[in-house]
Amino acid sequence: MKTKTLILMILLLSIGKIDAQKDKFIKQGDLDKIYKSLEIKHGSRAMFRYERGVSQAANFWTKEDGSIEDFEKFCLENFVSNDNELALLFSRLELNFEKLYGNLNTISVQFKKPLHLSGYYSTVVDNEFGGYNPFAHLNDDFFNNKIAFKIILNFPFYSLDEKKIAGENWTDRDWGYARLGDVFSSRVPSLLLMKKSEILSEADNYIANYNIYLGNVFDNSGKHLFPKDLALITHWGLRDELKSHYADKKHGLEKQKLIYNVMKRIITQTIPQAVINNPNLTWNPYTNKVFDKAIEIDAEREADTRYEYLLDVFKIMKSIDEYYPNFPTHINRKFDMEMEMSQQEVETMFKELLSSKQVHSVAKLIEKRLGRKLQAFDIWYDGFKPRGTMSQEELDEKVLALFPNNATFTVYLPKMLEKLGFSKEKADFICSKVVVEASRGAGHAWGARSKDDKAHLRSRIGENGMDYKGYNIAVHEFGHNVEQTISLHFVDNYFINGVPNTAFTEALAFVFQKRDLELIGIENSDALQQHYLALDIFWSCVEIMGVSLVDIYTWQWMYENPNATAVQLNYQVNKIAIEVWNEYFAPIFGVKNEPILAVYSHMIIDPLYLSAYPIGHLIEFQLEKYLQNKIIGDEVLRIFALGRKHPQLWMQQAVGEDLSVKPILNSVDEALKYIK
Ligand SMILES: [Zn+2]
Repeated sequence: MKTKTLILMILLLSIGKIDAQKDKFIKQGDLDKIYKSLEIKHGSRAMFRYERGVSQAANFWTKEDGSIEDFEKFCLENFVSNDNELALLFSRLELNFEKLYGNLNTISVQFKKPLHLSGYYSTVVDNEFGGYNPFAHLNDDFFNNKIAFKIILNFPFYSLDEKKIAGENWTDRDWGYARLGDVFSSRVPSLLLMKKSEILSEADNYIANYNIYLGNVFDNSGKHLFPKDLALITHWGLRDELKSHYADKKHGLEKQKLIYNVMKRIITQTIPQAVINNPNLTWNPYTNKVFDKAIEIDAEREADTRYEYLLDVFKIMKSIDEYYPNFPTHINRKFDMEMEMSQQEVETMFKELLSSKQVHSVAKLIEKRLGRKLQAFDIWYDGFKPRGTMSQEELDEKVLALFPNNATFTVYLPKMLEKLGFSKEKADFICSKVVVEASRGAGHAWGARSKDDKAHLRSRIGENGMDYKGYNIAVHEFGHNVEQTISLHFVDNYFINGVPNTAFTEALAFVFQKRDLELIGIENSDALQQHYLALDIFWSCVEIMGVSLVDIYTWQWMYENPNATAVQLNYQVNKIAIEVWNEYFAPIFGVKNEPILAVYSHMIIDPLYLSAYPIGHLIEFQLEKYLQNKIIGDEVLRIFALGRKHPQLWMQQAVGEDLSVKPILNSVDEALKYIK
């Protein structure tokens, strides 16, 4: 911790220095003079564009870039007022950026292969190449050689509201111009970017080493309920273990209670420091007593380290605020910039779902199925997982026989698309742009960034082939690859390639994954399956929307109290978690003052990311509803060629309505008729 604090202090001092230099160099008076000169040269027709372009370029121009006279000269020489010339400039930029992003992406893919793929021998340089980011200096370079300034000057930035409202009447080409205006919307010094990755990776490390030896944990009767060597990471491992005990009717509940008590000790930071990642001590989380062999020892609490990391993440994020003139807080950057939905918009949707009568009905159903009153940790109830009609062994056997290796799976991909209604020609084309590789981890999909490159589909392929789990993940990733390929090749121009945000690509991945059996010719004979799935997803949305609200309110509080200490932050996060619980969960669960919603590790290592998960599910339900009785292939081709527009606009054009919680609520109503 000590060296960390020191690094942060040095960093804050150096930020002070940058601060002084960055005092607005070009003043309003200078701008007015430049507008006049541009008006003389180009007339008033292009006034909107040059006033906007000049003022936005001025936001980033510093003394080191040139004098005020240099800036004026730069604007006069480089502003393109003629529409045809502007279109030519756009085409040149399209071509060059596709080459640039495409090739840098290829380098990243290649350098990370020994880390991502199985079957690579390891060498001493793999980690360094894997950690190298070829994009790291791009922003710096392009401001230094002034390409960034030329782009800002001619293709200005539009705010989220402008994109939403004016964007309705934009052509795909107009959208391309606007997306080009997003490319250089910040000029963060690389020193700060480097520090940001350092601090995030320190937080990552803290969580990665936060294991609890559950075998050493015992309850008030002195009983050890878990296997001796069971060590689990917070919060994922602990949560999944808790979930797995719903099946155990005899001891499940006491095990779950014990795990939840461990979690509460972590959230409140009353956990003894000595039991974290330590296989040698035993601990009773109820009394908080710690033992070495049979002897009780003094053990100090962790003392707010969890919140110190969060505070460090907040401070580094806040330190780069001033380099984003259009997105001045981390909250803005996560919602308005990355997700392109305002925080209020997201919050309103989450509250609508959390306050719905369906939460009550599903909670009642869970209570009935469990045969007991709900506990706080039943936010993780997993009894709605669809069971299917085939056993795990049967599924493994079937899939292994179909796909004994990578090549058989690759050959099969176009057949899957044809089953979904893609023409043979389109199916063959899309699949010619996808390469299948055996991954070391669970699996992922890595898209290409230029049309001459391929998307990568990674899943587990063992020595005997692909088992059902590997196949199920591979189908999810294939859904991503199909989105990546359509939204790169079939869009109007390069700068609108992709989808509005990551939740949209998840939606298509879910649509594919849900049909995994159908795609290998197994008809689903369990009519209740889709209803179970709806309830399962709904309940996980309830949980994660609650967690997301805690995440959002915590960041709002930190911005309102930038000098808070870790002790204060600890108190506050607990307070916020309990407030959210008491408002939305307590009336349904019948228990008050539970801090459980603050346990997520994402809050520490990837702040404000969590909202993307439930949004992905909302889109999925809307997409599914729209796809009913339609040819999936045709619709997917049309929808994912819309390009990266404003999310609500995309939804309007894709499925004819705004993003909303209604389709998922309707599916829950439907499911409740069948599942008792
Ligand atoms: Zn995914």
